[in-house]
Amino acid sequence: MTLIDPGTALDAARLEFREDLLDAGLLIGSASAGIYGRSATFEAILAGLDRVLTEMAAPLAAIAVRFPPVYPRADFERTDYIASFPDLAGVVSSFEAGDREHRELLAAREEGRAWDGWLTPSDVVLTNAICHPLYATLEGRLPAGGAVYDVLGWGFRHEPSADPMRLQSFRMHEFVYVGDPQGAQEYRDTWLDRAVETLQSLGLPVTAVPANDPFFGRAGRMLVSAQLRENLKIELTVPIYGDLHEGTAIASANCQRDHLTAAFGIRTADGETAHASCLAFGMERTTLALLRVHGLDVGSWPAEVRSRLGL
Ligand code: ATP
Ligand code: ZN
Repeated sequence: MTLIDPGTALDAARLEFREDLLDAGLLIGSASAGIYGRSATFEAILAGLDRVLTEMAAPLAAIAVRFPPVYPRADFERTDYIASFPDLAGVVSSFEAGDREHRELLAAREEGRAWDGWLTPSDVVLTNAICHPLYATLEGRLPAGGAVYDVLGWGFRHEPSADPMRLQSFRMHEFVYVGDPQGAQEYRDTWLDRAVETLQSLGLPVTAVPANDPFFGRAGRMLVSAQLRENLKIELTVPIYGDLHEGTAIASANCQRDHLTAAFGIRTADGETAHASCLAFGMERTTLALLRVHGLDVGSWPAEVRSRLGL
């Protein structure tokens, strides 16, 4: 994947926003596109936002669970992610051979040659969506009325970009419903509205728009049209680059139907295949949207927003 060509006005705007964030010390650059350190101020905004989202979701009485940024490849296999988004996936490789191979690796490295050919893919992959490791734990029957889970964690997507809104490693906070089909649809619609209100209350000019995911290849194009036709995914976008871009998604509300629940053998109390829907917030993207809208100097943000975020 190529970095943004600084040729167009949109690319220039993205590069400028990135430079401003680096100059202000909010993000700390690295040799890889879309990999940054975060300053204490950045983390304070993100933590405040997380508290606001958790308060918003209090009526759900969601079961909170946390997973590491890697999960078993056997579970990844069941998600079908490698079919839909092979270009975004990441498998952890490590060295599993002996002394002789290690010497060969070191010799290659010494000569400035590639040494990763001596590594073997391990049995863990990087988590692409933090709800995936959750589904893997829910095999079997759900309680009557379904269940709601609160999941927060790091996701990896191999999509290097100079746009600071598109990272390779970022956190998402998801509120996931699993239960019957009608419950899943109602949950998505109700909580989409709550999410819009909550984000607007922080001064973010969000718009709800039907989304199409970048499914890979020719088969993927059919999945995109089904997603749009059936209105399965709604994104909440904020205009980060004014008129130059239609807006960047800071959150999404998805009806997953039985896509993952069937794969993981998750059933309702009645024994039917469960349906799932989830509300996912991009924590870095929402933090960056707040910085874009209110300015990079948090001290001059509207008092009400600062107090809501505990800043
Ligand atoms: P996009 O269409 O912009 O690539 P997505 O549709 O792939 O995003 P989701 O799978 O819905 O994103 O992920 C949930 C949320 O995670 C998004 O709404 C967004 O806020 C955030 N997110 C997704 N990809 C990235 C990324 N590369 N960098 C930062 N945040 C991201
Ligand atoms: Zn999800």
